[in-house]
Amino acid sequence: MTPYQREQWDTLSLVENYISRQTSSERSELSTAIEKYLDYRHRLDIFLSLHFNEICTRECFQNNLSACCSKDGIITFFGDVVVNVLASDETHLNTMFNLLTRPHTSPKCLYLTTSGCAWRIRPSVCALFLCDRAKDAVFSLNPDRKVEWDELKREEKDYKWPDKPVVFDYLETVFIEAGIRSPLMYLHNSPGLLRVKKRAGIL
Ligand code: SF4
Repeated sequence: MTPYQREQWDTLSLVENYISRQTSSERSELSTAIEKYLDYRHRLDIFLSLHFNEICTRECFQNNLSACCSKDGIITFFGDVVVNVLASDETHLNTMFNLLTRPHTSPKCLYLTTSGCAWRIRPSVCALFLCDRAKDAVFSLNPDRKVEWDELKREEKDYKWPDKPVVFDYLETVFIEAGIRSPLMYLHNSPGLLRVKKRAGIL
């Protein structure tokens, strides 16, 4: 395992273990907390599928480029992992554990499989990545799409940017209070994000 695989495996395993031991009411509390975020991700997926599916599939996925999945160590937040575990079944999670334990020699993201990304709910940094070529092709024909896109990008901050109480911070707090720590808890670890919380008076 590479250090990245180990870090990802550790966090996925901690989250999966914790959630599998929860009572159904504890689990439904977490599910309720992420409802708005899931609705946002659903709307984002619809937007991407309506306006970018064709160009991304034709220009990139079918040609085996998958340029947006070319990094072998994509940044994932702890909240991304929690949301994904809540949305996954055992088969999905086993696929992820397998990908994290097998030797990774490809220059592409280790989560990229022949049928696409192994995450049920992709990390938000991936969901919000569009290459310049795709954006130019779509937005030059319809500037209104760019307005929609900018608003979707802005809305992500409502869930992740801690200048107010946000769900990604809440999710980390739930696990911290249960004695769980992960280097992916950026809203509790990152000096920059801690400064944002301090300035907002929520630290
Ligand atoms: S996590 Fe999924 S969407 Fe993100 S880079 Fe990897 S394969 Fe692509």
